[in-house]
Amino acid sequence: AKISGSSGWCFFDTSMPEQVRERSEIDAGLRIALEQDQFVLHYQPQVDDDGRILGAEALVRWLHPQQGMISPGRFVPIAEQNGLILPLGNWVLWAACRQLAHWADDPRLAHLTLAVNVSANQLAQADFVDRVLAALTETGAPAKRLKLELTESALAQEIESVIDKMNQLKEHGVSFSLDDFGTGYSSLNYLNRLPLDQLKIDQSFVQGMLQDTNSAEIAQMIVLLAERMGLSVLAEGVETPDQQVALQKRGCHQFQGYLFGRPMPAEEFERMLLGRD
Ligand code: C2E
Ligand code: CA
Ligand code: CA
Ligand code: CA
Repeated sequence: AKISGSSGWCFFDTSMPEQVRERSEIDAGLRIALEQDQFVLHYQPQVDDDGRILGAEALVRWLHPQQGMISPGRFVPIAEQNGLILPLGNWVLWAACRQLAHWADDPRLAHLTLAVNVSANQLAQADFVDRVLAALTETGAPAKRLKLELTESALAQEIESVIDKMNQLKEHGVSFSLDDFGTGYSSLNYLNRLPLDQLKIDQSFVQGMLQDTNSAEIAQMIVLLAERMGLSVLAEGVETPDQQVALQKRGCHQFQGYLFGRPMPAEEFERMLLGRD
């Protein structure tokens, strides 16, 4: 915004609302961050009923040279608007595949799956399938261990094209999970046509289910829907044993949340698995 002041024109007036200022700082900083490789992936365990680690979700962090670690909630939405989510998403994909390739070399880690978040804009790219296959092939990551997390907004594009891309990747062994399920625009009509493997119960329902019957009923409905469609179901944002029990009672047997582990650097995740240290 151009603001006319006594000294002429200036671009960043001190009266500029804090949020707008932060936004343009992040916008400019992201371009540098991509050039200078300031991103890192953290890994949050996904577990079964017995707490056995089935895999992880990769969650990006920005290691800002001055501000320290910045969470994706502050920069992913901005990157989605200014187009930088494409190079950022590609960086995430490659970093995740390198990690998978590394795990594949260790018989104690080779079973792990890695879930990677994919934005609507990424999925919309005409060459999305080629990009994923290139990352897998060139890193040597096993496609069977890669799970792509889509949100309902990612599916709000031409559905035939989405289905086609998903099927092409599934032929290579890649699987798909529907993230934040129940919070966005869902059509049960297309849900049925998508070649999904998993529904992810959003943490808002998990955290609400002991307080309000609505959340509990929605969680129950998602489990039944998944069963009916032959999909697995995973609950995220599980923080307490009571929440885990409530989910188990409703037929959910895969979990992710602070109860089992926060998102952590790769080395820490591997130590947790190998039981050393
Ligand atoms: P999400 O995909 O729904 O990821 C789950 C978020 O919940 C993560 O936040 C995670 O740290 C947090 N979380 C996990 N367990 C718990 C819990 O028990 N309690 C609570 N309160 N929170 C929990 P994070 O890492 O800050 O990521 C926020 C969002 O940023 C993600 O939400 C996702 O939408 C986006 N994001 C993160 N990494 C990527 C990425 O590589 N690509 C894209 N496109 N988006 C990403
Ligand atoms: Ca996710
Ligand atoms: Ca989620
Ligand atoms: Ca979420």
